[in-house]
Amino acid sequence: MANRLEKLSMFIIKIEKVLFLIIFLIFFSCSSNKTSSDDQDSNILIVDNDIDWSEFLEYSKGNIPVILISVHGGTMSPEWISDRSCPGAVTVKDDNTYELAKETQEFLSLIEASPYVVLNKMSRKKIDLNRSLEDSNCGDTSTEEFWDLFHKKVLEYRQEIETLFGKGLVLDIHGHGHPIQRIELGYLLSKNNLSENDESLNSEDIKSLSSIRSLAENNRSGINHSELLKGEKSFGSLLDNNGYPAVPSLNDNYPSANELYFTGGYNTFYYGSRTQGNIDAIQLEINKKGVREDLNQVENFASVLSSVIMDYLSEHYGDYN
Ligand SMILES: [Zn+2]
Repeated sequence: MANRLEKLSMFIIKIEKVLFLIIFLIFFSCSSNKTSSDDQDSNILIVDNDIDWSEFLEYSKGNIPVILISVHGGTMSPEWISDRSCPGAVTVKDDNTYELAKETQEFLSLIEASPYVVLNKMSRKKIDLNRSLEDSNCGDTSTEEFWDLFHKKVLEYRQEIETLFGKGLVLDIHGHGHPIQRIELGYLLSKNNLSENDESLNSEDIKSLSSIRSLAENNRSGINHSELLKGEKSFGSLLDNNGYPAVPSLNDNYPSANELYFTGGYNTFYYGSRTQGNIDAIQLEINKKGVREDLNQVENFASVLSSVIMDYLSEHYGDYN
């Protein structure tokens, strides 16, 4: 009898152990599921609901084969994005360049010629959109989606212009702080390249480096690369003729070896015709004095720039209005 009671109590102890184990497993699996699903939910909230990156960007389609880009004139500075402070990071604002792009768009719309525009409103302290993705953020990758949005929009418009018009022009608008007060036009050609003679400027070697390579191969006026850079109907000469000195141009063929000059950056390289396609690009580095110190000057210059753009198009690309 004692033996049977012993066996029964051992059986009950075993059942208790099994029940305890089952209850423990159920509790553990529920709590671990809960943790991971909460984590997923909070990730989804951060990515999808909290940030509308399009608030920092202004973009619209146009009806002429021109895209105006402005990336260094933004002022929006959300505190949840780290300031760029890694070695080599330039954070200075190109004053009034966003406003200049807007005014130019306005003047063109008065003659019913709307350029495509993609304008960044975020401060350069937070992101540099004239750099590769890796170099744009100094390690705070929270802006990667915004970098993508900006560049996908430019690519989309570039593709649309190529489909609708066959060729076109990207103008990347910047402001420089160099001592010589002239507009620096960047075609991805160095000071050395630009100082070469006409024969050399028209060689395949130099044309293959140019952000207007496609235009040099085929343009309405039938002129060569050298003339497109610094002839009477070059972008620089059209600006100069209207009271805004520029280099290269007829009166200022190339910057001297000791003078500061911007050749063109990431956007001029990727959106111009140096490596592919029929969309050209020019980087406009605009001096400050007399041109963009205040909004009056900006308005005056935007009026000239819009007519230079239309002259340049009708000389070299086609009639679009
Ligand atoms: Zn700039």
